[in-house]
Amino acid sequence: MTEKETKAVAKRQHQHRQRLPKNPKPKEWLSKDLSLDYVASYKPFNFVDGEGVRCSLYVSGCKFACPGCYNKVAQNFHYGQPYTKDLEDQIIADLGQSYVQGLTLLGGEPFLNTHVCLQLIDRIHKEYGHSKDIWSWTGYTWDELQLESDDKKEMLSKLDILVDGRFLEAQKDLTLQFRGSSNQRIIDVQKSLQQSKVVIWDRLVR
Ligand code: SF4
Repeated sequence: MTEKETKAVAKRQHQHRQRLPKNPKPKEWLSKDLSLDYVASYKPFNFVDGEGVRCSLYVSGCKFACPGCYNKVAQNFHYGQPYTKDLEDQIIADLGQSYVQGLTLLGGEPFLNTHVCLQLIDRIHKEYGHSKDIWSWTGYTWDELQLESDDKKEMLSKLDILVDGRFLEAQKDLTLQFRGSSNQRIIDVQKSLQQSKVVIWDRLVR
């Protein structure tokens, strides 16, 4: 291979590496250091962020930087507005509608906004017990979360469903249920914790 060809290959490899999300070490990114308790948006009564009719809270801030991220503006921890008691009251009221199945947390990265998410999850459990299910998306994998900070583990322990893993452009598949790439999994959190292994949601179609 000529020097020119070698340089071209190295350049392509560099570009390829740049097209991958970041990989944090365990506890490298902490919500207490990063989160500003901001939310990018709130979407009540939608049909796309999980099973049934759902209320979705999009928190602000994510460091995974997945190329092709579905909500790039929300990677910024300053994006949107502060989470407020008024918004929380609105979410609680909306969840009270009998046709609403539950809450969905997305972003941004919910596990880098644990203060907001835990506050809301705890309020939902206080008001509705477990009659409303709670789904969260995350760029972390299940295995990575097992090695993470206590706040992340606490949040995981209070979820019903986790959709895990970075969005990987090379594995993008628009036919998948509720996920963008085939590495991501829809995990039944409570069964997985009980069995100490990943248990996939039993209503997965594809
Ligand atoms: S983890 Fe999700 S929100 Fe974060 S960069 Fe990746 S796709 Fe975007």
